[in-house]
Amino acid sequence: MSATGLRALRYAQELENVGCVVANDMDPTAAEAIERNKAYNALCSPDKAEAISRVIPHNEDVRMVCMKHEKMFDVVDLDPYGTPSTLLDSAVTSVKEGGLLLVTATDMAVLCGNNAEVAWAKYQSYPLRAKYCHEMAVRTLLAAVENAAIKHRRHIVPVISLSIDFYIRVFVRVYTSPLQMKQTPSKLSYVFQCVGCDAHELQAVGRQQTKGNVTKYQPGVGPVVPQRCSSCGWHYNMGGPIWSDPIHDKTWVTNVKSELERNKDAYPGYGKVHALLTMASEELLDVPLHYDLHAMGGTLKATPPSFWLFKSAVMNAGYRVSGSHSNPLAIKTDAPVDVLWDILRCWVKEHPVKPQSSPTPGEAILAKEPTVIANWTRRTEAQSKAQKDGVARFPQNPTADWGPKRRAGKYREEELEAKRRKEEEED
Ligand SMILES: [Zn+2]
Repeated sequence: MSATGLRALRYAQELENVGCVVANDMDPTAAEAIERNKAYNALCSPDKAEAISRVIPHNEDVRMVCMKHEKMFDVVDLDPYGTPSTLLDSAVTSVKEGGLLLVTATDMAVLCGNNAEVAWAKYQSYPLRAKYCHEMAVRTLLAAVENAAIKHRRHIVPVISLSIDFYIRVFVRVYTSPLQMKQTPSKLSYVFQCVGCDAHELQAVGRQQTKGNVTKYQPGVGPVVPQRCSSCGWHYNMGGPIWSDPIHDKTWVTNVKSELERNKDAYPGYGKVHALLTMASEELLDVPLHYDLHAMGGTLKATPPSFWLFKSAVMNAGYRVSGSHSNPLAIKTDAPVDVLWDILRCWVKEHPVKPQSSPTPGEAILAKEPTVIANWTRRTEAQSKAQKDGVARFPQNPTADWGPKRRAGKYREEELEAKRRKEEEED
């Protein structure tokens, strides 16, 4: 999966104290290409020749490479075309104690619920087609990595987990601890999503109770939702389980952001990386998933208040609120959904909507009187630090057709097919 070896060559040249970088690809032509690119790079940058020599092109199934090197790599970077699910089991065993495992998944259609049954087969988790699907995809992948790790008495601690462009990428540390392994069910949750409105609740798979020196591990208590949504009366779908513990290590993210700011000129992608780190550093870590203000407005057939105003009202009601790096319209909050609807009920009283011709979830929500009265006093803390500092939070894509290209092998097949056809025509 190293393909041209580009990333391996960068790791060798840009990181300090690198012993060696094994650039593996199961395609023999890719391994040859990496060898050639090593030579080109050494020719073009003689001062880096020693660092470049630390790249070791390798041609084998990555699962075999990992299984042969148990707890030997400081960092394992899995970036396959499509799903990494079949590689996780071997990868978690090959990372050193406390080492880093980096995993990229590009099968976003599957992870975001277009083929839920395929997602179950690959990740043993059921995705939901909701506005938080990208964060849910990140949490689905983290749950899959954790589930792979605990089979080997290991567990993960995420340092940063991101949804970027058309893929997700998670960075986790891997440790061995039979005790931590027992806590896995309390780090995973099912998700109940109302099919009528935006309400969702998390149902922990397990829980732990500590009395004195004794900790007991027990099943989660549920259900956390009634048969019918208390906001709109529709029923729920159940997705997951997903990782419901924090997805970032805030100290790590802040330190990396500071390091980036100190070396701004060294990073051509500074704007985008800085924006991602800023957003990640501001997220509420103990609130999995999020609401989407425009979607909530859509449920009520109303134009919602501005983000600043809505977030201020949530804070004035006594709750915390943040955005999410995964969705520019996200509202992450510890406020119960009823409080959010109350705030929007108050908004609609001041900005009435047209009555609907048929009964809708929005009408059912608006039929109730708010118990929390919205206080619209603007709060400066409700603006994200990134907004206040004028930092771009969601930079534009560089080109109009920005996105993943087709799988490398298919290019070759299509080229060969075209060549064959051309030869036939010439004959
Ligand atoms: Zn509902």
